[in-house]
Amino acid sequence: MKNSLKKKFIRITIASFSVMVIVVCLVAYTIVYSSMANQEKEVMKSLVSMVVGDYDETYPGEYGIKLNEDGTFNVYKGKSDISRTHDKMDEIKEDFDYDMSIFCKNIRVITSFDDENGEPLIGTKAATKVDVDVVEGGESCFYNNVKIGSKTYFAYYEPIILEDGTIYGMVGICCPAAPVQQSAFHVIIPLTFICIIMALFFCWVSIRFSNDILNRANALGKFMRSVADGNFLTPVDAVLNADDELGEITKDAKRMQRNIQVLVEIDTLTKLNNRRYGNNRLKLMIKKSQESNRSFCVCIGDIDFFKKVNDTYGHDAGDEVLKAVSKVLKEKMKGKGFVARWGGEEFLIVFEMMDLDDAVKSLNDILNQIRKLKVECNGNVITMTMSFGVIQGEPEFSGDELLKKADDNLYYAKSHGRNQVYSGRE
Ligand code: GH3
Ligand code: MG
Ligand code: MG
Repeated sequence: MKNSLKKKFIRITIASFSVMVIVVCLVAYTIVYSSMANQEKEVMKSLVSMVVGDYDETYPGEYGIKLNEDGTFNVYKGKSDISRTHDKMDEIKEDFDYDMSIFCKNIRVITSFDDENGEPLIGTKAATKVDVDVVEGGESCFYNNVKIGSKTYFAYYEPIILEDGTIYGMVGICCPAAPVQQSAFHVIIPLTFICIIMALFFCWVSIRFSNDILNRANALGKFMRSVADGNFLTPVDAVLNADDELGEITKDAKRMQRNIQVLVEIDTLTKLNNRRYGNNRLKLMIKKSQESNRSFCVCIGDIDFFKKVNDTYGHDAGDEVLKAVSKVLKEKMKGKGFVARWGGEEFLIVFEMMDLDDAVKSLNDILNQIRKLKVECNGNVITMTMSFGVIQGEPEFSGDELLKKADDNLYYAKSHGRNQVYSGRE
């Protein structure tokens, strides 16, 4: 089947577990990455306060700037010109691999950042967002995605607030984000691996479980198809006898099988099996006897002068006679074979695993019982007799051929006085 439930289930299972692995890994990566970034933030904070404290101690006084006529500038702290004091920041860069800068407003005035020629990157501007948050907003801020050149950096900025409350600029520190990203990635690799193994395991468990259900659904489908084809003797597969929803559906299917069988194979008046059933069962028995060489006998029985019963006592009385005769046949045939209503007042009687002599004996017993029957209807007591034509079953003959022979014997019995069993032997 192109769109079988099995394929659908496998697709859904694999898709949902893949999504689960991706989500778990992304969430875990984000958590690990942000916790590492947080650690960086704390380190940066303490380095900034160390450098700021160091500057305050070495150069007491407030930060200031003096613009020169040639466009250059000098940075002051108190009375000291600190324009060339980036060696403190270079030390930190050397020891901890962090770049530091002091900004006047948003202009980098002292820094450990060097350009391609090894010259300090003085005079460059901080990003607009940093300017707005720190210089204008007066807040310390941490960023985990500051672009400097083509690289992404973690950066922390703290405003430099003068005594009159105005903001002189800020101290910034940064380090490349790539190593932290890589570390977070390395932490996540084993987790990803475990997640994939677990997802594969759960996929396997769930596909196995679904296979179980689907196999049972297929067995149920097979059973239903066989019922639809009119095979009412097909047993249900043992896998379907479970105490669950499919087990319940199976019980309903069995009930349906029985009910359809009654509708299709049971005669409503006599409650005997009908001709359709008789024919199928006879064919089945011929097949069995071909395989196992069992002997069997086929008989057609017919009520004598039944038309007269109808004509004399009415159709209802005829029906009562049919019911009474059927009851006798059913009871007497228990454990010997089967009986089916073959036509109006004709019956197919099949003896399984019995030779002709025994079958004739049984039929005579049935005939005696029929002779003794008294059917009361509308104040009338009706008695009746029957004629039987019986033959020994031969596996090489078809059902139709056997029935024809039994019918010939019945004809003989009818034309030789009725009320008798005729087996072809005088
Ligand atoms: P014979 O001894 O040669 O068998 O004579 P018969 O009268 O029994 O045979 P015949 O075939 O002439 O008549 C059979 C009658 O059975 C005719 C039909 O109206 C009647 N019959 C068939 N089915 C039913 C039924 O279901 N109920 C009733 N009451 N009569 C039925
Ligand atoms: Mg008759
Ligand atoms: Mg007849």
